[in-house]
Amino acid sequence: MATKKSNILYVVVPCYNESEVLEETTKRLTEKLNQMIKDKLIDKKSKIMYVNDGSKDNTWDLIAKFNQENNLVTGVNLSKNRGHQNALLAGLMTAKEYADIVISMDADLQDDIEVMNQMVSEYKKGSAIVYGVRNSRKKDTWFKKHTAQMFYKLMKLLGVDVIYNHADYRLLSKRVLEELANYKEVNLFLRGIIPLIGFKSSIVTYERHERFAGVSKYPLKKMINFAIEGILSFSVKPLRIITLSGFFISLISFLFLLYVVIGHFITGNVAGWTTIVTLICFFGGFQIFCIGVIGEYIGKIYSETKQRPRYTIEEVLTND
Ligand code: UDP
Ligand code: MG
Repeated sequence: MATKKSNILYVVVPCYNESEVLEETTKRLTEKLNQMIKDKLIDKKSKIMYVNDGSKDNTWDLIAKFNQENNLVTGVNLSKNRGHQNALLAGLMTAKEYADIVISMDADLQDDIEVMNQMVSEYKKGSAIVYGVRNSRKKDTWFKKHTAQMFYKLMKLLGVDVIYNHADYRLLSKRVLEELANYKEVNLFLRGIIPLIGFKSSIVTYERHERFAGVSKYPLKKMINFAIEGILSFSVKPLRIITLSGFFISLISFLFLLYVVIGHFITGNVAGWTTIVTLICFFGGFQIFCIGVIGEYIGKIYSETKQRPRYTIEEVLTND
């Protein structure tokens, strides 16, 4: 027999130095949640949950102030900056205790909050996960657009199941959050983990806006790290590629050896300095590269085996 679901929604928003956008984000999310509560789409105990990821500006003070003034605002303060994915996880795991459904989104209002209604309706129709997928990248810079597309293609090529053009704007049911709690990996790439959890899922599409204010907290270096994280945490194909290329290079080397030996007897050549140097350089470089790739995996194993906590919560501000 189906039991009636309660629908307490928590909107989890990781924030790193977001003081410029927080006021506007709070205003719009408050309007949105109030409207959804009025329309009986969600329970009146629904909240916004900001996660302060060790900001250097007054982000946490603002969150604490909004928490005082606005009974929809709650906050989690991390003890230091742990990066977007860990901050998001901290928020999800905290919200899990209070909410039936959680929607995660960025603080900068790039994700269209209007589709939250659709996300909740999809949930009510039975989806445990609803992915927010942007329908275009018109507002992205040329560089971001092309690097992002390359990333998705590469992930696909390496056999990692990620949703194309989906970032971290998604709805998760309590059941999914409970399962997510069982994934203990330190090298966190939520976009890869969520599809692994399974359950019925659906997609809502939206137009992604420009950042409302402030600058991206994902400079190139963080973006590259994130992409490597995604690949190494979800695919061992690079190791396989090394094995295969090693095999082919050995084969070619063997044929080359035949050529050299036969050549030696036929023409008695001693020339070949160029060939030798070229080969030494090629193999030297290739071997270092391979060792590097293997090293990357060992590095991941190293951080996984230590099982250090992924975040430390200093304070939680609820609002009941
Ligand atoms: N963020 C975070 N910790 C960090 C970096 C970013 O919590 O170390 C948050 C940030 O405040 C924002 C979200 O992650 O809410 C996405 O960052 P941003 O919008 O700067 O990335 P972009 O949209 O440019 O990829
Ligand atoms: Mg952004």
